[in-house]
Amino acid sequence: MSAYEYYLDKIKQGGFKITQQRIEILKALSKDKMQSAEQLHNNVILIQPNVSLDTIYRNLHMFLKLGVVTETKVGDGKTRFKLSGKKHNHHMTCVNCGSSVELNFCPMDLIKDQITSKNFRVTNHNFEIFGYCSCCS
Ligand SMILES: [Zn+2]
Ligand SMILES: [Zn+2]
Repeated sequence: MSAYEYYLDKIKQGGFKITQQRIEILKALSKDKMQSAEQLHNNVILIQPNVSLDTIYRNLHMFLKLGVVTETKVGDGKTRFKLSGKKHNHHMTCVNCGSSVELNFCPMDLIKDQITSKNFRVTNHNFEIFGYCSCCS
């Protein structure tokens, strides 16, 4: 079982095909904690030189929708992407240095009953806290 099986499943469930390109993007994403689309592109073209930055953007958008990656804006205003992680968790991210701290808490647990009562089938959710870490404040 490949390390990307979990993500490939999400992509398949979303109705998208698994292509070698997408596998390479996932591999590249797993190399670094957080990458901008440009950094990711640089990593991918080492293996698949014909992949355009446009393709990277298109796939990142799809990955975002499916909850395969999460995006974070850091100090320089650039958006960085990272794999959402198998373990479900949320983070407090410093907008200055980009460091992030894991929270052992999911706010969804608090509103589970409300969601159930509305018969809404949740496929993904996002909750991130932004601010300044102790070194940057
Ligand atoms: Zn900081
Ligand atoms: Zn959660």
